[in-house]
Amino acid sequence: MPRKKLIAANWKMYKTPAETTAFLREFLPQVNRHTRDEIVVCAPFVCLPAAVEAARGSGVAIGAQDMYWEKEGAFTGQISAEMLRAVGCTHVILGHSERRQFFGETDDTVNRKLGRALEAGLTPIVCVGELFEEREAGWTEEVLHRQCTGAFRGIAAAAAARMTVAYEPVWAIGTGKTATPQLAAEAHAVIRREAAHALGDDVAEGLRILYGGSVKPENASALMAEAEIDGALVGGASLKPDSFAAIVKY
Ligand code: PEP
Repeated sequence: MPRKKLIAANWKMYKTPAETTAFLREFLPQVNRHTRDEIVVCAPFVCLPAAVEAARGSGVAIGAQDMYWEKEGAFTGQISAEMLRAVGCTHVILGHSERRQFFGETDDTVNRKLGRALEAGLTPIVCVGELFEEREAGWTEEVLHRQCTGAFRGIAAAAAARMTVAYEPVWAIGTGKTATPQLAAEAHAVIRREAAHALGDDVAEGLRILYGGSVKPENASALMAEAEIDGALVGGASLKPDSFAAIVKY
């Protein structure tokens, strides 16, 4: 069975609730007949209710960009999976490289969040990817092995069926440098091998592995043509309705 591609926007720390509504008002009519791919918009926490409201009935799903692994408690500033579900979120990005770089995210915290997100019924988008120096040193496979085994540890295969992974080479995020489709496909094959090892062949076969890193309307179709690339996680180019719609329609 071919895997249906997933095109996800990661808005990072951009847009207010009013800007979220305005974006979706312009974006949704451009994709209202688009059924070939799944579309998700991952907005800042405070924009999620506005996004869910604006996207209702459209087929576009709404996701968050992080969450905490506890159900509730004295964890000032944190947001739980249940809270995300309660406002109508269906997806959550976990382990984005910016969270690893600036906010102390580790393979272990990604693993805890992944388990909780799956338990709560969310579809996690788990981000992995090597730094420029790691690629230059020939360590890409080793880094992906460490990140995948760390994230997937103890995760039940049945629950993992809903999971998505995003391969995001850190050197390609927000830099304008894109991995070639072949290079991305090679990394995706490594991730699929790791998933097979940790979660079994069936999960690995159905696992969607997105590519992220300077995806733009101009390079989306070449990337999406690779059989190993099951969609895209798009940062900068997802902030404008026309540009994100052009990527969705690659
Ligand atoms: C991202 O934020 O996940 C990302 C891939 O950003 P950009 O598309 O801007 O490189």
